Amino acid sequence: MAATAATAATDAQRAPARDRAVRAAVAQGLVGPAEPVAGLLDVDGIRRSAAELRAAFEEFTAPGTPVLHAFAVKAASLVPVLRLLAQEGLGCEVASPGELALARAARVPAAHTVLDSPAKTLAELREALALGIAVNADNPEELSRIDGLMASAPSKAPIGLRVNPQIGGGSIGAMSTATDTSKFGVGLRDEGAREWVVRCCLDRPWLTRLHAHVGSQGMPLELMAAGVSALFHLAEEINERAGRRQIDTLDIGGGLPVNFASDATAPTFREYAALLRSAVPGLMSGRYGLVTEFGRSLLAKHGTVVARVEYAKSAGGRPIAVTHAGAQVATRTVFVPDAWPIRVAAYDAHGLPKTGAPVAQDIAGPCCFAGDLVAENRPLPLLRSGDHAALLDTGAYYFSNHFAYNSLPRPGIYGYTAAPDGSVRFATVRTPQTLAELTEESGGAHADALRGLLQEQPRDRERPYGQEHP
Ligand SMILES: *Cc1c(COP(=O)(O)O)cnc(C)c1O
Repeated sequence: MAATAATAATDAQRAPARDRAVRAAVAQGLVGPAEPVAGLLDVDGIRRSAAELRAAFEEFTAPGTPVLHAFAVKAASLVPVLRLLAQEGLGCEVASPGELALARAARVPAAHTVLDSPAKTLAELREALALGIAVNADNPEELSRIDGLMASAPSKAPIGLRVNPQIGGGSIGAMSTATDTSKFGVGLRDEGAREWVVRCCLDRPWLTRLHAHVGSQGMPLELMAAGVSALFHLAEEINERAGRRQIDTLDIGGGLPVNFASDATAPTFREYAALLRSAVPGLMSGRYGLVTEFGRSLLAKHGTVVARVEYAKSAGGRPIAVTHAGAQVATRTVFVPDAWPIRVAAYDAHGLPKTGAPVAQDIAGPCCFAGDLVAENRPLPLLRSGDHAALLDTGAYYFSNHFAYNSLPRPGIYGYTAAPDGSVRFATVRTPQTLAELTEESGGAHADALRGLLQEQPRDRERPYGQEHP
């Protein structure tokens, strides 16, 4: 297959392009003693993935089928990334007022935005309907709120209902949204639920979409297709009973898993689209518009965290590289290492790939708890202080989802393009958080607030700064 050969060819380019970017980031001081950790994003890679996604659905859907690919903003909540994807024809799936604000800052049109949170407030719903943003209601209570809003101010925004086909979970419990008791959507197999959903639609001519997102990382493709199939058959039933094509669009969610074990893109968007075509032929027949909501599979392979090794030490006979990348940038990997293992690459002080016999070592982060390890007993060329450790495949849900432990600042993020002549150009995606910003978001403006609550002003026990220890 031409597409597969092309994917393999670009996969083979990934490591050389990354190596050049790490070398340039070190040479230019984007990462170094002053900024000991940074995130790098492969801009050409992101654009290729977006193009592969579009091409996959174009190939397998009937000509003229409307398809919106709405990127799940939580996977990389960075305005320049959303803007780049918008330029590639993608929209945004948002799940909070913050994510909606980012999508709007990236100038993503309302018609390309989908709101999916399980906890939308009345104000959020009102705003989305006023803007014309597609809304997927999660549950009966939310639907009655929308009833009220539609009665007072009818909106042309596409409105859908999220259902849970309850087809079962994948290998990571926390990522499995289609279990019997998942908190998302209306459980279709619960007693009376299917009939309730059908009646809901028949009673509401404006309810024109159905939505399911059956899981993320760890879901077998066949199970994902089974969820989409359930969604399709529900739509067919509703339309038959309505005697018209009331449900005109199916939002099939995201969730394509990512291969974290090598540079290979696997599975590909094309494989998934082909599977959907054979498992649910009617889905791609042109009778329904489609919305997808991929996140991880669009960005993961295109991000790298580069961290300086501050110290190299050993304990109990095990070498430990103490780096500046830990739970603050690789939260899931640190807390649930078995579900989220990532590759680490070793670079020297100049940012060149390290050679040398592999030595089993721990790659630790800077956080003050013992479990702050991104890799344990990992065979790599022995890291020394001043070297760099790179966390691979971290473009989605890693450095864009900062965890503010130990008041560690959010690192800078830089997009790169690598020219064939080996030169690398960087653009700032996010500036490193300054200590002043960090202090401010930690209540710095309210330093005296708690003292102000006290009835009597206690005698000031403070001594002027610098004289604490006379
Ligand atoms: C998180 C999420 C997605 C994206 O999932 P990925 O695994 O990153 O593709 C899509 N839709 C909804 C509703 C989500 O919650």
